[in-house]
Amino acid sequence: MLPYKNYSEKIELLKSGKLSLRENVKYFLSRINEYKHLNAFNFVFDDCVEQVNIVEQRIKSGKHGKLAGMVIAIKDVLALKNKPLTCSSNILRNFKSLYTATAVQRLLDEDAIIIGKTNCDEFAMGSSNENSAFGKVLNPIDNARVPGGSSGGSAVAVAAGLCDASLGTDTGGSIRQPAAFCGIFGLKPTYGRVSRYGLTAYASSFDSIGPFSKNIEDIALLLEVISGKDDKDSTSFEIDIPNFSKDIQTDKKFRIGIPKEYFGEGLDKEISNGINNTIAKLKSSGHEIIDITLPRTEYSIATYYILATAEASSNLARFDGARYGYRSDDSFNLSDMYINSRSEGFGEEVKRRIMLGTYVLSAGYYDAYYRKAQKVRRLLKEDFDQAFKSVDVILTPTTPTAAFKLGEKSSDPLEMYLMDIYTTSANLAGIPGINIPIGKNSEGLPIGMQLMANQFDELSLLQIGKSLK
Ligand code: GLN
Repeated sequence: MLPYKNYSEKIELLKSGKLSLRENVKYFLSRINEYKHLNAFNFVFDDCVEQVNIVEQRIKSGKHGKLAGMVIAIKDVLALKNKPLTCSSNILRNFKSLYTATAVQRLLDEDAIIIGKTNCDEFAMGSSNENSAFGKVLNPIDNARVPGGSSGGSAVAVAAGLCDASLGTDTGGSIRQPAAFCGIFGLKPTYGRVSRYGLTAYASSFDSIGPFSKNIEDIALLLEVISGKDDKDSTSFEIDIPNFSKDIQTDKKFRIGIPKEYFGEGLDKEISNGINNTIAKLKSSGHEIIDITLPRTEYSIATYYILATAEASSNLARFDGARYGYRSDDSFNLSDMYINSRSEGFGEEVKRRIMLGTYVLSAGYYDAYYRKAQKVRRLLKEDFDQAFKSVDVILTPTTPTAAFKLGEKSSDPLEMYLMDIYTTSANLAGIPGINIPIGKNSEGLPIGMQLMANQFDELSLLQIGKSLK
């Protein structure tokens, strides 16, 4: 058991010498080893102990960063210089990064310790972490179940106590959904809040980087550190970064919208009961609960899977065996080299997405699918704009069911895509969303609640999350 509940307690222990950072890191390294069967890590950085010396000195001198000694794991789609970057794909099996992602650099600049890179669905495509060239990840609460995806390894690393916190990425739910399945907090920031530089692109107009933690205070702190304009990502936003970690505590009462479209058919009874209990709690503590409608919700999954695959097909064109990554030996000429390298290097789901995306972008189908989906995306955003005229935040379930069994949905891609029914809309609209763990079902599996807010209003999500404790 760790002697601290969150980072502000940890740093006090480190400062007073009651906790040794070296011992703490060793503890995590041995625990990662002990829980190897969960398969949460693609790479563990034993050499991070070297960094520990430097950070220990900084803490002693009193001049240390905001995250001094926080032990963090990062999803293996984020670049860290001179370390492997595989995206859990065979096509990048032996690839090493030449530079460090901005979000990761910001952690390092604040004296965090990066302990390893976590397993995920290949190129972040999936909802169960079963699509990985490094093998599937197991849910720590019930090893026969999936941890969710695509940032399954990052969620498991935190839930199983293998590190203090982690970073994941969320294109259609990949932070919030595994957070819900593993019973922890996971935040997808506003699109543009965090630089995407050094994140391997899946669907560039959706991708966002965000934190996982067992406590909401550390989510606030991590968001504060990784946020901000970056000249290396032109879609990152020049906007003030609130003091999330300080302002998280408030007595403010919020107007909370409940969209009826998120509580319909297909929602597990125990989840809906759990959410209703939380709504009652919020109401009794003085928040205003308002019924709202997001009328185009039913189009979000279709729109997401058209646009995300279109962007993926274009982004993944760079993996051709010529420039980096895997090259097939079986290549008589250039075009064979491309075909064979891609056919052998990519996994099945990635190839499915590339084909779907190429199809919706192809001449003759572009107007019917891609262009139309762009228009629907705009309308979905308008639903939210309308809703945020009368409410501060929107409350929904994060997932329609609790963690499902390994293999249960892997033969039916459509059923798997439906797992994202409540999460893709935040990415389509570019707004922030968080998973807040609210309890367990009768089988002991975690239940998650999602809160969404208007663009750049992560603070409200954090404040409500904090007040729910
Ligand atoms: N499950 C969704 C997909 O497969 C979302 C993935 C993600 O957010 N990276 O596309």
